[in-house]
Amino acid sequence: MNTNLPVVVLKGIGDKKSKLLDKMGIRTIENLLNYYPRDYERNMPITKISEIKMDEINVIEGTICFPTQNIRKRNMVLTKTKIRDNTGEIFAIWFSQPYLKNKLKIGAKYVFKGKIQYKYNIVQMSSPQIIEINKYSESINHLKPIYPLIKDISMNFMTGSIKQAIEYTRNQLKEFLPNEVREKYNLAEYNYSIRQIHDPDDYESLETAKKRLIFDEFLLFALGINLIKEHTNDVINEFNINDIPNEKILIESLPYDLTGAQQKVWKEIKDELKSNKAMNRLVQGDVGSGKTIIAALALLYVADNNYQACMMAPTEVLAKQHYNSITKLLDPMGVNVELLVGSMTKKQKDEIYKKLKNGEISILIGTHALIQEKVEFNNLALAITDEQHRFGVKQRENLSDKGKYPHILVMSATPIPRTLALIVYSDMDVSIIDEMPPGRQKIETYAVNTSYRERIYSFIEGEINNGRQVYIICPMVEDSETLELESVVSYSDKIKERIDNKIKVEYIHGKMKAKEKNDIMERFSNNEIDILVSTTVIEVGVNVPNATLMIIENAERFGLAGLHQLRGRVGRGKYKSYCVLITDSKNTITKKRMDIMCKHTDGFVISEYDLKLRGPGDVFGLKQHGLPEFIIGDIFRDIDILKEANGLAKEILSNDKYLESEENKYLNHKMKRYFTKRIEQISL
Ligand code: ADP
Ligand code: MG
Repeated sequence: MNTNLPVVVLKGIGDKKSKLLDKMGIRTIENLLNYYPRDYERNMPITKISEIKMDEINVIEGTICFPTQNIRKRNMVLTKTKIRDNTGEIFAIWFSQPYLKNKLKIGAKYVFKGKIQYKYNIVQMSSPQIIEINKYSESINHLKPIYPLIKDISMNFMTGSIKQAIEYTRNQLKEFLPNEVREKYNLAEYNYSIRQIHDPDDYESLETAKKRLIFDEFLLFALGINLIKEHTNDVINEFNINDIPNEKILIESLPYDLTGAQQKVWKEIKDELKSNKAMNRLVQGDVGSGKTIIAALALLYVADNNYQACMMAPTEVLAKQHYNSITKLLDPMGVNVELLVGSMTKKQKDEIYKKLKNGEISILIGTHALIQEKVEFNNLALAITDEQHRFGVKQRENLSDKGKYPHILVMSATPIPRTLALIVYSDMDVSIIDEMPPGRQKIETYAVNTSYRERIYSFIEGEINNGRQVYIICPMVEDSETLELESVVSYSDKIKERIDNKIKVEYIHGKMKAKEKNDIMERFSNNEIDILVSTTVIEVGVNVPNATLMIIENAERFGLAGLHQLRGRVGRGKYKSYCVLITDSKNTITKKRMDIMCKHTDGFVISEYDLKLRGPGDVFGLKQHGLPEFIIGDIFRDIDILKEANGLAKEILSNDKYLESEENKYLNHKMKRYFTKRIEQISL
């Protein structure tokens, strides 16, 4: 069965319609069959006239019991009649449809569907649809598909065309999953599923069909992703990188031992740098798990092999912080590390460009400034990006374009559930630092309501009197810019009034100029500010080990991901740290979230809860990770199907690495058709 024929082979689809369908991504019969309904509508049951509900749409079945009149009102005709069933009577009116008078003769019986309103001093049904009784009762249990439409493509046209496409294929669509697989995963047959998704017999059949098609989507997706990964694995490492004596010296110079997890991840990176495979790796490690030293080791390794390396951070504050800590680590090794950020003068920048090009600089750390056109490396072999989800796909690509297939290392502190890692990180290898350095104290976390505010103020004063510092994350209302500003400002005014006036309070918000923000962060960093009132701009990577108290107002506004990230700003030094979540919300989900935050500190554990607690939504910042949209599957609702499909994809590929065998030929073909459409969305 060739389902790859263009849609014009169907009746009623000519040039004009096929152009419109093209806009909807529908070119072939197969595309039409895979254009699934967005929802289903069921005919409403019939209501007795004595039981109709005001101001709602009702369906009644009755007889015209009153001579239908056309009444002229200003320049419009109003058609009025009365309908009766064995429980009562009701008026019905239509506007500008005078021809209805002939249809609605006394004794005529129809189903009427419309809104009941009190208007012109009477209760009436306004402009009801008039439906033949047989037709209505026949379809009362029928689930009518609702398709997403565009202008000039009507629901009837869509339903009709898809019906034709199904008839055209006459149950001859190729089943691409073997019987054993369908049995194992309890999946319906393909033809059946396609028919049922467009024209379900009932809810149960619809669910059965959906499960099969969701499974298909996840399977094709997982196959595609794994194949891309297989192919990127084939990119050859052109650099000649070998062991260096300084590696051991650096590790031994540290005031601590690397954790087992750090050693494991570092080995994975090192082995890859030395191998003949180009690196494309993500390092995931919770805040404070010690990713910086891993980055420093990789940078040193490459620099000592006489190549250049760079590291890009999303903000100037972070870039400078990395610059400072990495210089401290690598200076003693005689490595030349430089910083490049937007706020530097042209002269300073030009100097960097020059030294970079002629190879005097070994390691460059900076912000987006690194991907400006003028930046030219001599022999870039490693590009690291920190907090990668803050960068767009394009920016990451630009960075890697600065060299000839440099090794790519991406660091992220956003833990995501393992089951989703495959999808979110698509074609990258993933290393996980799943262990915290020893001796970290658990951040004591409390969830309280606003009646505790006085006690919290005393707590704040206590910490500050001990020499510590405090973050307060304060309400940001909706995403209105002015309100955000106002709430931070007025909140800090309020707290200044209330609190000992020796205590220095500052605020920071997203709408401030970068320089202002940097300034304030630097002063906070130098302990010149005691309390920093902030929106969530401080969320990313900043490190102020002297800050020990994090207060989050209106904690219900945040998901677990956000709360976890914010809490990670404290507990970064040797002092006992605390987090207070303030909320008056009685919502059960909010309560559960607060509970989880009080009990758990491991980001991966929290992310798994997040997945369970939420329906579809931005779980742990997944949107920022470039999560692909699925057509019918929903990774949150259908997580179990996703796991199964992933498992099967792995199994298939373990026997047939490139999906090239004869038996998988059609599956490969299906995958490619599905995948070419989505590939832009997922490729890094
Ligand atoms: P992140 O993973 O959030 O980037 P950092 O690299 O900033 O974490 O590390 C957080 C802190 O932990 C730093 O002060 C760092 O010196 C320290 N650290 C890193 N690794 C270890 C270790 N193995 N033992 C003790 N402290 C460590
Ligand atoms: Mg970090």
